[in-house]
Amino acid sequence: MTEQRRVIARILQDSDDHPDVEELYRRSTKIDSRISISTVYRTVKLFEDAGIIEKHDFRDGRSRYETVPEEHHDHMIDVKTGEVIEFHSAEIEALQERIAREHGFRLVGHRLELYGIPLDKDDT
Ligand SMILES: [Zn+2]
Repeated sequence: MTEQRRVIARILQDSDDHPDVEELYRRSTKIDSRISISTVYRTVKLFEDAGIIEKHDFRDGRSRYETVPEEHHDHMIDVKTGEVIEFHSAEIEALQERIAREHGFRLVGHRLELYGIPLDKDDT
């Protein structure tokens, strides 16, 4: 792995949000100003193909990335601010397994994104 790829890998590892390529590029150049945006694009594609990172589309027209987590989680997106909340629901996981089984499938994966806006105080 080249030094520049190592820098990008470390940034992805250290990110607890879901940065897009532009944001990865911004963070990368703070560490190594020689890194170009095309290097970031190529590296992200490479890592994605290798199964090291996951690509997400949270409907804002930008692909976002995170290292494949050890523990599975799903995402909830605040459509006003773009904030992404990670959650895990044993109930949803079990329900998905059940639906797959009912259709004669063994589940090998899923993708779940919830889109919402924060409740007003008087909605609660
Ligand atoms: Zn996530």
